[in-house]
Amino acid sequence: MSEGQVKSKFDVQTIETTGHDPWADFREVEKLSLEFTQQYRHSLGKYSKFFIELENKKFLATQCGKCEKVFAPPRPLCPDCLDITIWKELAGTGTLETYSVIHFSPGTNDDVRQLETPYVLAYVLLDGASTLFPHVLKTDLDSIEMGMKVKIEYTDEPVDHPIHLMHFVPLEDE
Ligand SMILES: [Zn+2]
Repeated sequence: MSEGQVKSKFDVQTIETTGHDPWADFREVEKLSLEFTQQYRHSLGKYSKFFIELENKKFLATQCGKCEKVFAPPRPLCPDCLDITIWKELAGTGTLETYSVIHFSPGTNDDVRQLETPYVLAYVLLDGASTLFPHVLKTDLDSIEMGMKVKIEYTDEPVDHPIHLMHFVPLEDE
């Protein structure tokens, strides 16, 4: 293939060497700024009762009737026994098992975007639960200690998603 010969319709190098631009009449590009919003309905399915009771300031886990493991967040099925679980209210106190300090918000929804960074994502073993529950821990960063006792605090403020009806705070703030 000799220099300047068209190798492909879209070969920019060839266009530069031949000086021929087949797209010349289409190079003027207009850019528009458009906004896209979408409303949709999302079912919380078998987890609905958990979120409904958050509005009533109650924290529900589920328990397997066979192995008696308590799942928080709730699971409709025990992953070990495959039994359908039953709802069980927990007191809402627990222990900080691990945490991350978040400096850059993932911004997945307005509630998260509105959180002032840095904020703390805590993994809490709620009293009476067998699994860790992840959520925001609102406290002074300097006061965080592994193993500290925390409790659920509920909000009366309007939220985009019912999971933001709750967060953790240190228990001693009571
Ligand atoms: Zn089980």
